[in-house]
Amino acid sequence: SMKVAEALNQAVKSHNGNAKVIADIKTTGCHGFCENGPIVKILPDNLVYYKVKPEDSDEIVEKSVLGEEEIGRLMYKDDSGRPVRSQEENPFYAHQYKMVLRDVGEIDPENIGDYLERGGYEALRKAVSMSQDEIIDEVEKSGIRGRGGAGFPAGRKWRTAKRYDNFPKYVACNGDEGDPGAFMDCSILEGNPHSVIEGLAIAAIAVGAKEGFFYIRDEYDLAVKRIKKAIQDAEERGIIGASVMGSEYSLKLSVVRGGGAFVCGESTALMASIEGRVGEPRAKYIRSVQRGLWNQPTVLNNVETLANIPKIILEGGEKFAMTGTKGSTGTKVFSLVGKVKRTGLVEVPMGTTLRHLIYDIGGGIIGNRPFKAVQTGGPSGGCIPESMLDLEVDFDSLASYGAMMGSGGMIVMDDRSCMVEVARYYTNFLCEESCGKCTPCREGLRRMLEILTDICEGRGREGDIELLERLGHTMQEASLCSLGKTAANPVLTTIQYFWEEYEAHIREKR
Ligand code: SF4
Repeated sequence: SMKVAEALNQAVKSHNGNAKVIADIKTTGCHGFCENGPIVKILPDNLVYYKVKPEDSDEIVEKSVLGEEEIGRLMYKDDSGRPVRSQEENPFYAHQYKMVLRDVGEIDPENIGDYLERGGYEALRKAVSMSQDEIIDEVEKSGIRGRGGAGFPAGRKWRTAKRYDNFPKYVACNGDEGDPGAFMDCSILEGNPHSVIEGLAIAAIAVGAKEGFFYIRDEYDLAVKRIKKAIQDAEERGIIGASVMGSEYSLKLSVVRGGGAFVCGESTALMASIEGRVGEPRAKYIRSVQRGLWNQPTVLNNVETLANIPKIILEGGEKFAMTGTKGSTGTKVFSLVGKVKRTGLVEVPMGTTLRHLIYDIGGGIIGNRPFKAVQTGGPSGGCIPESMLDLEVDFDSLASYGAMMGSGGMIVMDDRSCMVEVARYYTNFLCEESCGKCTPCREGLRRMLEILTDICEGRGREGDIELLERLGHTMQEASLCSLGKTAANPVLTTIQYFWEEYEAHIREKR
C-alpha cells in the first residue's frame, strides 16, 4: 500500500503542469476488505479501486482524476460480474453498520488534524465538564460489554474502580490480540489510534486515574508506532498530559510492548507483564479493579471497547443501546476469514445472524461448496455447525451453545475440513501457549493433544471420546485462568456437533 501511495504521489507530481490535477494523496488505515488491497478511493467521485499496483498509478491519475474515466479491471465485481463504483454498492460493505470503524479507512491515522476535523476529542472535552458519576452513568446506560471476550459490563467495572479511594489508580488498554485469524484490534489501533486514546482518557477521568498504559502485541509494529505518535501529538496539543483539555485532570499515557505469549492477553498476566514480571496469571479472588497494577485499583479495557466510548459520551448511552440486542448492545467487529469468498474486517450490529455474516457479507463458501462449520472466538471458542447458521450472534447466544464470541475471530470451514484436525490444531496451539502454572490446564492440554493425535493418526481407541470430554470438563472447572477454563471448547463443541467424525476416525483407523 505504501508503494502504491508513493507511486500515486509521483504520478500526481508528473502531471503538475495540468491545472486539473490538484490531488492530495492521503494514506489511511485498512478499509477492511483486506484480501482485495491495496485499495484506492478517489474522492469526491467516491470511486474505489482494488488490488492496485504501483504501475497502475499513471493510468489512475490520467483516466480517473483527469479524464473522469473508470478503469473496469480495478473495480470490484459483484456476484453477477457487474463492476461496482463505490464502497456502498459493494456487497462486502453494503450490509455492514460502522460505528467503531466509521473513520478507519477515511482518516490519516498519523494526522491528529484529521481526527479533530471529524469531531475527535469532543467527547473528551465533554467528559471533563461532567462529573465522574455522570460519565459512568452514560457508560452504564449504554450497556456496553467488554469486547475482549469475557463480555463484562464496562460501566460496572468503572463504577467499582471509582469506589475504591486508594490512589494512584491506573487505566490500561488490552491490545494483546493473540487469536489466530483475528486482526480487529490491530486495524483499529492502526487505522484510528486517537479514538482508543480518547476512550482511555475518558476512562481515566471517570475512575480518577492519572496514568494509563497501552499493552500492545509485540508483533504489531505499525500499531505501536501509530499509538506512540498519536500520544505525542495529543500531548503537544494539550489534549492529554499535565492538563487534560485545560481541566484540572492530568493524564500520562505510555506504551508497553506485549511479552510475546498468548496468555499475556489474560488480565492478570497482562498486568504482571506491564510491571516487568513474567506474564503469568494469578488467581482472581481479588479483582484487578481493586488491586491490579502495583496492587492499585486498575481498569483494563479492550481496544474495541475503548473505541466505542467517545460515541457513547457524545451521543448518550441510551442512543448507543438502541443498536444491538437487549443483552449485547452496540456493534461488533469481526475478522471474517477462512473458506468464504469475501474475507476481511466487518462490523455489524450485535444480534446479526451467522448466515447474514457468512453469506450476505462473506458471499458464501468458495467454489459454492457446502458450509461445514464456523469457529468463533479464537482458540477458546467453539465450532458452530450448519444447523445453527440462523443463530443471532451476541455474547449470550453463542455461550449457550458452548462456543463464545470472544474478541471476534470467525473462521469459516467447508465440507473438506476435518473437525478432529481442527480440534487438534487449537489444542496444539493452546498446549504451546499454556503458561504451565496450574496442573489441569498444563497436563489436561497435553493429554488431550496426545489423544487427538492418536485419533487423527489412526491409533484411536474405544473410550477416547468420553475421556476427552472428562478431561475437558475437569479443565473447565479446575483451571486457574480463563485460558485453561475455555481451552477445551474447540474439543467439546466438535465432539458435541461432529461426534460422527470422531467415531469414523476411531472405527476406520485413519
Ligand atoms: Fe497458566 Fe493454563 Fe493455569 Fe492459566 S489455566 S494459569 S494458562 S496453566
